[in-house]
Parts: sequence; C-alpha cells; structure tokens
Amino acid sequence: MARDALRRRLEFYRDLGFEDLYVRGGGAAPAGAEAPPEPEPEDAAGELRVIRDDIGDCTRCRLHEGRTNIVFGSGNPNARLVFVGEGPGADEDQQGEPFVGRAGQLLTRMIDGTSERIGLAIRRPDVYICNVVKCRPPGNRNPRRDEMEICGQFLKRQVLAIAPKAVCVLGGTAAQALLRSSVGITRLRGKWQEWEGIRVMPTFHPSYLLRPGGQHAKRPAFEDLKAVLTYCYLD
Ligand code: SF4
Repeated sequence: MARDALRRRLEFYRDLGFEDLYVRGGGAAPAGAEAPPEPEPEDAAGELRVIRDDIGDCTRCRLHEGRTNIVFGSGNPNARLVFVGEGPGADEDQQGEPFVGRAGQLLTRMIDGTSERIGLAIRRPDVYICNVVKCRPPGNRNPRRDEMEICGQFLKRQVLAIAPKAVCVLGGTAAQALLRSSVGITRLRGKWQEWEGIRVMPTFHPSYLLRPGGQHAKRPAFEDLKAVLTYCYLD
C-alpha cells in the first residue's frame, strides 16, 4: 500500500511537470541523486489527508477565483462505493462539503432508501462522495475541459487511495470527463464501464431528477443505484 501510494504521488508530480523532488526541510535533491521519500501513510484515510495537503490553497485553475471553500470530498475512506459528481454548487461552496444542497439531499435519500429496499444497512456516511472539480464553477456553469483535466488529477488519486469496488458517476459532464467519452448520459447510464481497473456505473445527476423534465429519470436512476449497491455490498 505504502509503495503504491508513493508511486502514485510521484506519477502525479510527473504529470504536473515536476522533475526535481524536494525534501521537506531541505532543498532540491541534487540531479541524479535519489531523494529519500517522505514517510507515506499506510491507510486510505492517511493517503486522503496527503492528497488534501497537496491541494493546499490551490490556484492551479481559474475556478479558485470565485470559490469560498475547496470541497474535497466526504465519507468513509474505506468505502466500497464512491460517488463522483461534476463540481460543487452554491451550498457546497459555502459549507465546504459535497452534495449538501437540494440535489445532495435527494442523493442521500436515494442511497439510504435504495439500500433499505434491497435489505442493506448502507447509509450515506458509509460511502464516499466527491466531485471532479473541487471549486465551484461561477454561476453553476459546467466545469470546462481544462479545469476537469487539472483537478481530475486529484480525483484520480482520491479514488485510487480509497480503492472502491465501484464508482457511481453522476451526470453527463462527470461521466464524460471520467470515461473520456462523448456519449450522452441517457445512453451511457445503466451500463457498466471501466476506469483504472474499477467498475463504473454512470447515472443521472440528482439535480436533473429535480428538474420539471427530469421526473421520468427517477426510476432508471433508482435501478442504476440498485445495481451498483448490489454489486458493491451483496455480490
Ligand atoms: S478546481 Fe481543483 S485545480 Fe482548480 S483551483 Fe480548485 S482545487 Fe485547484
């Protein structure tokens, strides 16, 4: 686990274009010299803390300009199921927590209710919830491709640290970003996909279900959630 965590961290820095490693309390490692690695956390919770530290007071993309809080993610670091949305809205930005507004409350009811319907005791705190981008896009616009590319590095590390059995990706924007697909959510939903060796179930975003035209999507969203909860906790 520690070796994997270190490898992913080094890959992350390489992706960002850093060639030299810095040692805490020292300078850059001399060219060619192997820098002693920092002690790495042994568990997912520790690894998530390292990732949050790496994000810091992030200004890596333009979304930092309008944010109040970075919304990192919340839930069980050892969850078998991770939900991924596209980005924080106004309530999430204010509170620093993902999915706490109307759509978030619906997601909570869906997780708890679907779980109960299939005889499980899984509740929202048992899963992990986060977004592709950690800062609120202005005026609730969709995150742009470059913003999702930059912040998606953190998402990837987050999900790999948790190592869930499955990811449930919410809405077309997040699904297309994660799966690098141009297929719309209506066609993608309900069909298992794969990302980084992890099974992915795309479904509708709860905010879509709350729209006047989104009523028809509630039943399929319930079916998708049922499939992913069954796979993660009953199979
Ligand atoms: S959205 Fe992500 S990459 Fe952009 S500023 Fe926020 S934390 Fe940094």
